[in-house]
Amino acid sequence: MTSRADTPITLPLRRDLAGEVPYGAPQIDVPHLLNVNENPYPPGPEVVATLAAYVSAAAGTLNRYPDRDFPALRADLADYLAGESGVRVDPAQVWAANGSNEVMLHLMQAFGGPGRTALSFAPTYSMYPEYARDTHTRWVAGRREEDFTLDPDVAVATIREHTPSVIILTSPNNPTGTAMPFSTVEAVCEAALELDVDGSPAVVVVDEAYAEFRRAGVPSALELLERYPNLAVSRTMSKAFALAGARVGYLAGSTDLVDALRIVRLPYHLSAVTQATARAALAHAPALLAQVDSLRTERDATVAWLRSQTLDGRPLQAAESDSNFVLFGTFDDRHAVWQGLLDRGVLIRETGPEGWLRVSIGTPQDMIAFKDALVEVAGL
Ligand SMILES: *Cc1c(COP(=O)(O)O)cnc(C)c1O
Repeated sequence: MTSRADTPITLPLRRDLAGEVPYGAPQIDVPHLLNVNENPYPPGPEVVATLAAYVSAAAGTLNRYPDRDFPALRADLADYLAGESGVRVDPAQVWAANGSNEVMLHLMQAFGGPGRTALSFAPTYSMYPEYARDTHTRWVAGRREEDFTLDPDVAVATIREHTPSVIILTSPNNPTGTAMPFSTVEAVCEAALELDVDGSPAVVVVDEAYAEFRRAGVPSALELLERYPNLAVSRTMSKAFALAGARVGYLAGSTDLVDALRIVRLPYHLSAVTQATARAALAHAPALLAQVDSLRTERDATVAWLRSQTLDGRPLQAAESDSNFVLFGTFDDRHAVWQGLLDRGVLIRETGPEGWLRVSIGTPQDMIAFKDALVEVAGL
C-alpha cells in the first residue's frame, strides 16, 4: 500500500504568506552573545530559589486551568510600574502576555485588521510589519530623521495622510536606541485623537521595551496615560529585567483598552507556570535590575569608544542610546564585519539602515572581546 504522504501536494498556505520565512535572529553558541539585547547577568541564587518555590507551588495545581485574568500578577506589575516611574495605575489597566510581542499582536488583533492601517516610523523594530501582516492590517513605515529622531511635524503629517487605527512609537527605539521627548508623544496622541477611524480616534502604542535603561531626566509615556485614553505603554521583562526566557510582556492603558484586548486573547494564554515565574521575579525586582546602572555606564563608554575610533580617515559613528545596545557604523561591507566578529566568538546583529551594525551591551569582559575583535576586523 502506498502512503498518502508519498504524493507531493502543496498546502493551502495563505497567499500573502507565500515565500515568507520565519523571523528570528541567528541563535549561535559563541562566548559573547551580543545580538538580542538580553541582560547578560543571569538571575542569582536567591532569585532562583524563589522562582523554584513559586513554580513548585504552581506545579501542584497544574491539573486546573490558570486564572484567565491573572489579577495577582497584574497587581504586582502595577506596583512595579509605580515604583519604577512614579505613575500609579489600577491593576485593571494592566495587561500581560507571553512577551510584549504577544501584547502587540493582541493590540493589532483588537484595533487593526482588514481595511485598517498601522503606522510606525523607520528604522524601527522589524517585528511590527509581521504583526500587521499576520492580522491583515496594512502597514505604513513613516520616516525618522537622519539622526534617527522623529520630527513631530513629519509624524503628524504622516498620521493625517494615512489615517492609521494603530500608531506605534518605540522609545527608546530599536535598533537605534533613540528616546523620544514627551512633546513628540503628545503631538502624536493629539493627532491620533483628531482622526476618524470608523468614528473613533486612533490608538497610540508607545513600546518602552528598553525603558529601564533610559538616561536620567528622560520621561516615560506612562506619565501621559491619565490624559490620553487612546494611549497604551508597552513594557517587557525580557530586557532590563533579565527574564527573556520566561516570556512576559505587559502594557498599561485605559481599562477600556485593556478590556478590548481581553476579547482577542486566547483563553488561558498565560500559563500558571509563567504567572508564578513573573510574580517571583517581580518580588526580586531590585536584584534583577541591579546591573542596569552598570550596563548604562558600559553603554555610554561603548558609545564614547566607538566615536573615538577612525575608519578610513573618518570617525566611526555611534547613535545616541537610551537602551542597552548601540547602533554603530557605517561600514562598506557590514556583513563582512559581522562575520569577522562572529569568527572571533562575538555575535552581534546585522540590522538597521545599510552599513550599520548593532551591539548589545554585555559584561565588561564581553565588551573587551567586542572591541578587540572590531579593531582587528575593521582595521580601526
Ligand atoms: C526586544 C523587544 C521587545 C520585547 O519582546 P518580548 O516579546 O517582550 O521579548 C519589544 N519591543 C522591542 C522594540 C524590542 O526590541
